[in-house]
Amino acid sequence: MTVTSGKSEILKNRLVELARDLILIPSTRDRPDEIERCMEFVVNHAEAESVEVRRFAEEGSPSAVVLPAAIERPDVMLLAHIDVVARPEGTEYRSSVRDGRIYGPGSGDMKGELAILLALFRDFHERRPGVSLGLAITSDEEHGGNHGTRFLFEKAGFRCGVAILPDSGTIHDIAVEEKGILHLRLMAHGPSGHASRPWLVENPMERIIAAVARVQNHFASLQRGDDHWHPTCAVTQIYTENRVPNRIPSHAQAVLDIRFPPPYSGREILEIVAQSADGIEREIIVVAEPTHVAPDPLYLAATEEITGVAPRLIREHGGSDARYICQFGIPVIMTRPLVGNLHAENEWIDIASMETLYRIYERYLEKKLTRP
Ligand SMILES: [Zn+2]
Repeated sequence: MTVTSGKSEILKNRLVELARDLILIPSTRDRPDEIERCMEFVVNHAEAESVEVRRFAEEGSPSAVVLPAAIERPDVMLLAHIDVVARPEGTEYRSSVRDGRIYGPGSGDMKGELAILLALFRDFHERRPGVSLGLAITSDEEHGGNHGTRFLFEKAGFRCGVAILPDSGTIHDIAVEEKGILHLRLMAHGPSGHASRPWLVENPMERIIAAVARVQNHFASLQRGDDHWHPTCAVTQIYTENRVPNRIPSHAQAVLDIRFPPPYSGREILEIVAQSADGIEREIIVVAEPTHVAPDPLYLAATEEITGVAPRLIREHGGSDARYICQFGIPVIMTRPLVGNLHAENEWIDIASMETLYRIYERYLEKKLTRP
């Protein structure tokens, strides 16, 4: 065994052990005690003499920011969430290692990635105490990130030079654009009536169905090309309180999930819906602007040096917590190891690519963090 491969084995074992320890804690939203326990584990791991820990609990969602003493705005901030999507009852929160992968709930989203960040954070602060590198851990990403990343940047006012968020993309595909999101509720009301005399009342259910069809038609006209990089609209809920077959309901509603790329803005998308659903009451549930980030050339160079291949810049249809950071002009680096079956049975993360990503981050930070 050569010296290099010996070092490589030690690092891989360390990352695997740490990821598996994290997977063992079932930190799902319905288990706040386990979320606390996982946060405790992570903070203990990140604590060092030269850093300070700040803890928050916005609306019951704990988060923590670990910064070098006397540095308010680190050059680079590492970000991760500890929450995992709950699995069907009876699922065991355990992991197994086979075929070069770690299998287990949350392995790919994102406890394996969190293990990489924790190991990296510790290594840098041990080797270079006071280095301008921060770590932010949140616990509500799977439920929108409002009380986690959004809170830390919008309300608590944290800033950094560059953010690293391994929750999207791959090692060779760096996500540089993400679609915006609009979750919108459409509502119609009217006097209820008897279904034998439909001409007597304006049926709220039929008004909602017709409005949804008009909105869908409008979005269909915005389609461009085969890569679906255009606004899309999915109807995700249709609801009425009516349980009687022969009664015309007095209330009906539908929920739309709309995704839109730059340069569309949330306001423009709302106007499109308003034109098609004129006369229908509208309530915004969530709105988030699309993100566009220019990747750090130093990061692209670090990736090529470690892997021998220049990375590609890609677009993502899903939205991540990056949007809460990008809005302040902070570049966000979004890459991650090979992962699969996220949020589902047999979720996995590839161990060799965990090591590769660690090495890329390490090389990048060595270039980026010149002091101390
Ligand atoms: Zn995630």
